[in-house]
Amino acid sequence: MQLTSTYRSPWLDEELDDLRALARTFFEKESIPNQERWAQQHQVDREYWTAAGAAGLLCIGLPEEYGGGGGTFAHEAVVMEEQSAAGDDAFGYSVHSTIVAPYIANYGTEEQKRRWLPKLASGEYVGAIAMTEPGAGSDLQSLRTTARLDGDNYVVNGSKTFITNGSHANLVIIVARTGEDGGKGLSLIVAETDGLEGFERGRVLEKIGMPGQDTRELFFSDMRVPRENLLGGAEGQAFIQLMEQLPQERLIIAVAAAKGIEVAVQQTVEYAKERKAFGRELLKFQNTRFVLAECATEARAVRTLVDHCIQQHLAGELDASTASMAKWYATDKQCEVIDRCLQIFGGYGYMLEYPIARAYAAARVQKIYGGTNEIMKELIARTL
Ligand SMILES: Cc1cc2nc3c(=O)[nH]c(=O)nc-3n(C[C@H](O)[C@H](O)[C@H](O)COP(=O)(O)OP(=O)(O)OC[C@H]3O[C@@H](n4cnc5c(N)ncnc54)[C@H](O)[C@@H]3O)c2cc1C
Repeated sequence: MQLTSTYRSPWLDEELDDLRALARTFFEKESIPNQERWAQQHQVDREYWTAAGAAGLLCIGLPEEYGGGGGTFAHEAVVMEEQSAAGDDAFGYSVHSTIVAPYIANYGTEEQKRRWLPKLASGEYVGAIAMTEPGAGSDLQSLRTTARLDGDNYVVNGSKTFITNGSHANLVIIVARTGEDGGKGLSLIVAETDGLEGFERGRVLEKIGMPGQDTRELFFSDMRVPRENLLGGAEGQAFIQLMEQLPQERLIIAVAAAKGIEVAVQQTVEYAKERKAFGRELLKFQNTRFVLAECATEARAVRTLVDHCIQQHLAGELDASTASMAKWYATDKQCEVIDRCLQIFGGYGYMLEYPIARAYAAARVQKIYGGTNEIMKELIARTL
């Protein structure tokens, strides 16, 4: 069964096919041989970032004048799909290229864009976004990290947790309170952290999946950031900026989920053709056939929903509610389908040396980050 033989995403074209081939070669050469080691060391090698930059894969959706690839979200989606297909759950590519860089591209002043974007595109800077705090995740309006203006500097105090790219990041967008309580008092402050006094990285957090990803706590104590690092130059804009960017962030998670489902089903079909029980291939048992038929159908349902959202997003028409639908549905199905596929692997499905086991553990967080699936349903329900 070829999951993609009878269906081609309508937003793809020949140029994107070429990019896919380039990205596939990159991940096969630079990622697959190193994944085991990255899992042990809880981070990718720093050089992996610059290699991805040199290959033109970082910030591929950014305008060329800022060092990007001059592409669109479709280009970003293709790279993310190939990362998923390579089983690379260690590289914080999407946070860097499709979240951090767009914040700067969309809200930065001209000077900020020229200063930071080329470094993000080359991999000289690794980007992180620091929203979540120990006391506030879903409820962003109650964030407590403060940035108080003192002369030409913001003095930042507080802490963040669960920060992707937490080890390698040297450009961190911090959501901090510069004013009143609630959403209106929040601003985005960009910290360039190399040698920055008052900036400290906490321990690498031990997760149930994605062992190669450097997820950390970050601490700020009287950390002085130049006033000109306020993103966009005006205080109190963070909540609006976050709300505007969240549809893309949710779509990114759905894109990864769609690919993750397809990969899992494909791997399971291959396994079910090889593995024998009671003298027959697993695929000859009616239960295996029916489970895989259902999973292939779920894969197609998710794929078409995600494709619909990608097309809307490329046309500048993706609304928050539709993006939320894609995020919760695709990630819910990802966990469900991978669980059913894992069952077909029997005991081998529980062994980490099998990609299906890693995929199972990695998928679980998809329902949690980028806004939990419960929050997605709240957002959808508000529009009904
Ligand atoms: C591996 C990983 C990587 C991450 N990367 C980043 C990152 O790079 N940057 C970053 O800033 N954050 C990151 N996060 C944090 C992530 O976005 C938060 O964990 C998430 O938003 C949920 O916040 P919380 O953990 O505080 O849970 P809470 O907000 O405490 O929620 C707990 C539970 O209550 C439910 N709940 C909360 N409010 C409501 C409501 N109104 N209605 C119904 N149910 C509700 C939630 O759905 C959830 O089930 C990451 C998390 C993980 C695990």
